[in-house]
Amino acid sequence: MNDNIDLKELHWLLTITQSIDVGVVVLDRDYRVQVWNTFMENRSGVVPSEAAGQSFFKMFPEINEQWFSRKIDNVVTLGTPAFTIWEQRPYLVRFKNYQPITGQEDFMYQNTTLFPLRSTNSEISHICLVIYDVTDVATNRHQLQAANAELQKLSSTDRLTGLFNRGHWEEALKLEYARHSRYASNSSLVMFDIDHFKRVNDTYGHQAGDAVIQRVAEVIRHHVRDVDIAGRYGGEEFAVLLPGTDKEGARIFSERVRQAIEAEVVEHDGHAIRCTVSLGVADLATPMPGYKTLIERADQALYVSKENGRNQVSVHA
Ligand code: GH3
Ligand code: MG
Ligand code: MG
Repeated sequence: MNDNIDLKELHWLLTITQSIDVGVVVLDRDYRVQVWNTFMENRSGVVPSEAAGQSFFKMFPEINEQWFSRKIDNVVTLGTPAFTIWEQRPYLVRFKNYQPITGQEDFMYQNTTLFPLRSTNSEISHICLVIYDVTDVATNRHQLQAANAELQKLSSTDRLTGLFNRGHWEEALKLEYARHSRYASNSSLVMFDIDHFKRVNDTYGHQAGDAVIQRVAEVIRHHVRDVDIAGRYGGEEFAVLLPGTDKEGARIFSERVRQAIEAEVVEHDGHAIRCTVSLGVADLATPMPGYKTLIERADQALYVSKENGRNQVSVHA
């Protein structure tokens, strides 16, 4: 190889470094910029002549100095590359995300490779950073996670009311029962059944019936706390689990919801439809063989409410 070819190849290398679609930065041991390629220029708006000799930390105050210098120290001492990945640290330097398709992310997600550059005397006096734009990957991952969460939600949610479906609700009750068995915590169960619901369907039609079910669910949702677990138990039956609440507390809650439902008017097809609910309450204070017994007891109390004329709350003895 003669000098001529060396120079030519050097020129090629520079052209390649400039035109590749990754960020290339060379820093000296004082974190001052020595090389700044076109990718870095375009994304930061800082031209190479401005970047040259500048402190990397001054240019990018978002970098955690302590963390970054430890990383660089390792690269220099061990003479081996190091990496940062977006899952652990979304980016090294904050660049805006300009990708048209993945426009929903504010900033560019980055993977970064740091590797040592040896001088001719084989000392490591510079470090090269290569910054990859992985926004596409991050966006896809986030979309997948959102889709999975949505699926998870759908499989636990009742479509008509948005409350938990029976399967999910019963799992939650099982868990609560297990917690009670271990910690002797008390919890209550309230079962609801809409009174004379067949009449609503028969008089105004099934869709009106659905609207009533939705309204009752809304009222229930409005009254529960975050820790309470409200589910649609059957057609026009609902169940609410109140963790940490005894049956007296549950009775007060039930009475409040009963009154709220009684006061509601559902407008449907020009009709004003009213409805009432009967409720049954039971808690875990008296021993029982399993969680199903709690449902049975609340159901028995609900039956008493129906027997005694509906639109009322009964508590299992
Ligand atoms: P009671 O006061 O004794 O509870 O009388 P009821 O008429 O409510 O009696 P019951 O609980 O036996 O009737 C429930 C009715 O609810 C029967 C069924 O056709 C209707 N139903 C069940 N699921 C749905 C639903 O998703 N939408 C509508 N519109 N109706 C439903
Ligand atoms: Mg029923
Ligand atoms: Mg009913």
